[in-house]
Amino acid sequence: MKTETIAIHAGNHVDESSKAVIQPITLSTTFERSPDGTYAAGYIYSRSANPNRTSLEHVLAKLENGIDAACFSSGNAAGMAVFQSLKPGTHVIAPDDMYHGLRNQLKNLFAGILEFDFIDINNEDVLKQHINPSTGLIWIETPSNPLLKITDVKKVVDIARQHGIKVVCDSTFATPICQQPLALGADLVMHSSTKYFGGHSDLMGGVLVTAEKNEWWQKIRQVQEMGGAIPSPFDCYMLVRSIKTLPYRMRGHLHNAQLLAQFLEDHPKISQVMYPGLASHPQHLIAKDQMTGGFGGVLSFCVVGDEAEAKSVINSVKIFTQATSLGGVESLIEHRASVEGPDTKTPLNLLRVSVGLEHIDDLIADISAALG
Ligand SMILES: *Cc1c(COP(=O)(O)O)cnc(C)c1O
Repeated sequence: MKTETIAIHAGNHVDESSKAVIQPITLSTTFERSPDGTYAAGYIYSRSANPNRTSLEHVLAKLENGIDAACFSSGNAAGMAVFQSLKPGTHVIAPDDMYHGLRNQLKNLFAGILEFDFIDINNEDVLKQHINPSTGLIWIETPSNPLLKITDVKKVVDIARQHGIKVVCDSTFATPICQQPLALGADLVMHSSTKYFGGHSDLMGGVLVTAEKNEWWQKIRQVQEMGGAIPSPFDCYMLVRSIKTLPYRMRGHLHNAQLLAQFLEDHPKISQVMYPGLASHPQHLIAKDQMTGGFGGVLSFCVVGDEAEAKSVINSVKIFTQATSLGGVESLIEHRASVEGPDTKTPLNLLRVSVGLEHIDDLIADISAALG
């Protein structure tokens, strides 16, 4: 089946008892045991499994071409489950341009438990130099946040395989519509479903999808069940509902982002635009090769001048909302360095945009007026 069909049907089934076309929300935390001690539907207690979460995990596994998915209460909880599944002392290689929330997790919560290096993963020599006998995981994020750097997934996987190292790809910016990291050889793909899967800036969630049900995956399932950072039945229902329109929403995001990137690139008050769909992007050819479904809906740009000039732009826009996060139907703009805090390496004149589904003419007119 094609993606649009999977998105609509793989997370839903007609309810057998009521014949409701849309699967109802099962709020019950507990499930009846039969006289012989078995559980007729396989459900025991909602922390372990719940019908709405099962449906959500099913559609997400299908969309990523994986064989199983585990959903969490946030993207950070999904990332944390990966780190918690590793043996203490494991060395993790992560990108220097990594989602700051996960970078802070490693630095603050896993210091003394895991070893880690934040490096330029795209530099093959640097990557090889950092691999040691205890390296167990290479974490990649492509496109990256907020610099929209592209990592060549196949190339990293090739190197990792030679050393028996696992590869996890944070594919939040891309969604399975744009790229499918498991098909490129990654062991797991991770998403913050708070972003494009939710799509309406009104729920939090995270997911891991696996290519294989191996021992490592069993461990991750244990972290999910025993740790209990699970999404509520209502959030699972909301996600299943939103995912139905994901392929069509992404078409709009991709279309608008490409046109906005091109407009900004030609603007005299802008020194640099970071969007993998632009021929000027340093890794545009790699992006073209692995992002077969499009280049995503997020872009960053640097305003000529410093922090003050950049902040004057975000304070002048009228349609874009000045807020963090991404993937919703409404366009957002933010001064990224302020969000990331004092140890940020993000340029102070950089603004990050989540391009929404408003009409592109209105978005361009708004930002054009704000640039003066
Ligand atoms: C938002 C985000 C996360 C974290 O997800 P939450 O749902 O906020 O916990 C991780 N990675 C990327 C790339 C993100 O954009």
